Amino acid sequence: MSRARETLFHVFGYTGFRGPQEDIVEHVAAGGDALVLMPTGGGKSLCYQIPALLRPGVAIVVSPLIALMQDQVSALKEVGAAADFLNSSLGFERAMEIERAMLAGALDMLYVAPERLVTPRFLDLLDHLHEAGQLALFAIDEAHCVSQWGHDFRPEYLQLSILPERYPQVPRIALTATADAQTRREIAERLRLLEAREFVSSFDRPNIRYTIVPKDNPRAQLLAFLKDGHLGEAGIVYCSSRKKVDETAAWLQEKGIAALAYHAGMGTEERAINQDRFLREDGIVMVATVAFGMGIDKPDVRFVAHLDLPRSIEGYYQETGRAGRDGQPAEAWMAYSVADLVQQRRFIDQGEANAEVKRVSTAKLDALLGLCETTGCRRQRLLGYFDEASEPCGNCDTCLNPPQVRDASESARKALSCVFRTGSRFGAGHIVDVLLGKATDKVKEWQHDQVSTFGIGSELDDKGWRTLIRQLVAHGALAVDHERYGALTLTETARPLLRGESSFTLRIDAAPAKKGRKADTT
Ligand code: ADP
Ligand code: ZN
Repeated sequence: MSRARETLFHVFGYTGFRGPQEDIVEHVAAGGDALVLMPTGGGKSLCYQIPALLRPGVAIVVSPLIALMQDQVSALKEVGAAADFLNSSLGFERAMEIERAMLAGALDMLYVAPERLVTPRFLDLLDHLHEAGQLALFAIDEAHCVSQWGHDFRPEYLQLSILPERYPQVPRIALTATADAQTRREIAERLRLLEAREFVSSFDRPNIRYTIVPKDNPRAQLLAFLKDGHLGEAGIVYCSSRKKVDETAAWLQEKGIAALAYHAGMGTEERAINQDRFLREDGIVMVATVAFGMGIDKPDVRFVAHLDLPRSIEGYYQETGRAGRDGQPAEAWMAYSVADLVQQRRFIDQGEANAEVKRVSTAKLDALLGLCETTGCRRQRLLGYFDEASEPCGNCDTCLNPPQVRDASESARKALSCVFRTGSRFGAGHIVDVLLGKATDKVKEWQHDQVSTFGIGSELDDKGWRTLIRQLVAHGALAVDHERYGALTLTETARPLLRGESSFTLRIDAAPAKKGRKADTT
């Protein structure tokens, strides 16, 4: 038996490695650098914990969250490994004690926050260990925190590039559960891991069923989703603002759902209490902003619902990935609208970031819109975004209930010309009014009852036109000008459509999806 397998069995009690774990362990134990991309629940921890035990000296594990460190360290102590952590939760005496233990060679692993690691005091400790040949390795957990595109960005992570400069012979392993090609490159560059071996696992989470519905009456939709087999189950409901979190949690409570709120605007103590209840009690629904989630290791989260659009497919994947870590069936449900998209674009545009960052952020948002509007398998699209090829999955809304499509080229042309005729300066609501021939005050004010497209849209109703316009945006034929309050404008893609040289297929929004697993009670 290899030493790695021996450790796996004797220390952790497992009989075999999973997926690429063994290769990673061997590679790092032999002194190699590694970049590990593995989905949540894939077993990233062992990839550095076993090499840490196999190599002489102490392994330094960089981890962004105190809660995460505490969980890991107590689990390690339970199996008899000498692990500890240093962070701001400790008093001075305790911190000194741990430092001394580390210098005396009594620790296998030390978990530390990034901002602490790069302090002169800590680097000085590392220098001592290094000189004595007692630095086993550096593990950088949640490595995507180095990426400025994600909402987990932690500027302190950027300073970790000091490690290879100062300790070039010490192996480093960076790990993350989320990284599209762009983020992967960014991690490699910023952490100086361009030469590191990359280990990429399948990102598929087959037990998660994906469903994305157009937002209509979001609260009613959410309640229907919960009543459809999720009552009494633990789940997370993501909202984009603190205010909405509070309101939604209160509303769910009124409806008899055991809902709690979590966002960064709440006091530390209240947040900790709610998080603790979510982890310990059964069937709590946590209504939260993205501040909630990273490092929450609750295996039986049965659903993740989004009432607002995340910022990117990566964000969506990461947030939905908190469901079903135990491998049992779980659901990812999202309601989205073009208004969400417009709002997100406005956030991007009004942000402080430079033009390049804005461009990339917008592209990421567009990719997410593509996922929302796809008529193909959601999972295939999702995995495809992470460069992973797959077959239609049979466990998402579009597979289970294939959306009906029909040719809507003629209506699309009407909508596009209406946008053009009214000067490319109005949002969807006004365009629909003109198409339907509604002489509203605004229509009269702009004399849009005089344009040739006034009242030519009797084939669809208000909702039908809005759906069509949303899909034209997703298709790229219409662009939303967020700087001018959601004004629609034509793009290059619109030209062949208008000239009749290309056609447009409309996805007909399905009635509530038939469920394979649970009875439809809505
Ligand atoms: P990640 O950090 O990738 O989300 P973890 O390292 O927390 O995943 O591992 C997820 C779960 O899988 C843990 O409960 C862990 O003990 C278990 N696990 C990991 N590797 C193995 C293995 N080789 N055999 C059995 N269980 C494993
Ligand atoms: Zn599918």
